[in-house]
Amino acid sequence: MSVRPVIVAGGGIGGLAAALALAQRGFGVKVLEQSVELGEIGAGVQLAPNAFAAFDALGVGAQARSRAVYIDRLVMMDAVDESVVAEVPTGDAFRARFGNPYAVIHRADVHRSLLEGVRTQPGVEVQTSTRVTGFEPADDGGVVVFDDGGGRHRGVALVGCDGVKSAVRAQTVGDDVRVSGHVVYRAVVDVAAFPADLRWNAASVWAGPNCHLVHYPLRGGEQYNVVVTFHSRETEMWSVSEGSEAEVLSYFDGIAARPRRLLHLPKSWKRWATADRAPIATWTHGRATLLGDAAHPLLQYLAQGACMALEDAVTLGRALAACDDDLDAAFALYQRSRVARTARVVLMTREMGRVYHAHGVERLVRNDLWRGRAPERFYDALEWLYGWTAGRCLAH
Ligand SMILES: Cc1cc2nc3c(=O)[nH]c(=O)nc-3n(C[C@H](O)[C@H](O)[C@H](O)COP(=O)(O)OP(=O)(O)OC[C@H]3O[C@@H](n4cnc5c(N)ncnc54)[C@H](O)[C@@H]3O)c2cc1C
Repeated sequence: MSVRPVIVAGGGIGGLAAALALAQRGFGVKVLEQSVELGEIGAGVQLAPNAFAAFDALGVGAQARSRAVYIDRLVMMDAVDESVVAEVPTGDAFRARFGNPYAVIHRADVHRSLLEGVRTQPGVEVQTSTRVTGFEPADDGGVVVFDDGGGRHRGVALVGCDGVKSAVRAQTVGDDVRVSGHVVYRAVVDVAAFPADLRWNAASVWAGPNCHLVHYPLRGGEQYNVVVTFHSRETEMWSVSEGSEAEVLSYFDGIAARPRRLLHLPKSWKRWATADRAPIATWTHGRATLLGDAAHPLLQYLAQGACMALEDAVTLGRALAACDDDLDAAFALYQRSRVARTARVVLMTREMGRVYHAHGVERLVRNDLWRGRAPERFYDALEWLYGWTAGRCLAH
């Protein structure tokens, strides 16, 4: 084990996955998390096959699998006329094609699975209530990381896993978030309150003009995740706040009664004004690099942000192994292996947002393009994304 740890800023999904990957290479790790307690927000997350490939590589595949709900299909409905636009079965043929399932899961269960893995690693220390404010190179070639309580943490390197508003990125890259103007409302609803005719074992999207609605089961079908998104008429800043039912209801006039019922289900909503950033080519500055949303924040339309953070962590670990744990060489290889793939996801995600929210003739074109399409054609289109494996994650 190295004398000084690698410092990981942020203990979210990316930070814990990074801690696990680093510990598996024998590095000591110190995770600095700003929250009082480690945890995740109360909402669901979709996990594509590439996430399960990453969980397995991190040694927590069994834990994640035991908590996931395996859906039968991905389905897009037209929220205006209630017709089916596209269906992608996720049964045997899908699993055979991608080597792993598609699942939905509570975020807390993803986080818990990673934390269980971290707790088996004696070299990982987690310090909460500690907000990273910056860092500087140390005389010995490592880093000194500063926190908001005046603390100084010496490490051999720093991995910034501190999310969309990353302090590590602010210091090294210094770019601004690109606020999308799209607002997301999320809530988890008990099954008893969820309409019986919508209790599909599917990741379900109702695509509407400048809006969409998502629902899928959680925790063995005891709960349902409900997410609705709309183009705000306000000037938005990146933020998370309490939502208001009146605001939600004011945005979905053009959609049919069946999906509209979803808007009335939650007792309370959380509101996200979303943002991403333009992809960048350089994540690594000396002994500091970026991972997860800190490296490539993205919108939610491809449901891949957490999946990418998990892939990043696995790739970092594999890069260290390939470079005999030489941190400088490994950070360069890690970056080389991840930049194009994650940039593609960021850009494709923006495009997918346009498809989801198509209106007028664009809506008709979308429906015409996808309606009746055979599953194999969707599988082919998704191969680059879902077919990721840890064994082939490094650039040559
Ligand atoms: C509406 C919505 C739906 C989504 N759905 C999906 C989906 O279905 N599938 C999917 O794969 N992804 C999805 N995502 C994306 C996914 O949530 C994120 O990409 C993922 O959580 C990123 O993880 P992270 O660890 O990089 O960042 P975060 O989850 O933001 O974690 C960052 C951590 O760092 C801490 N932190 C922040 N700043 C500091 C600091 N200065 N010092 C110390 N600690 C700090 C934070 O408290 C937090 O714990 C969705 C996102 C949204 C908004």
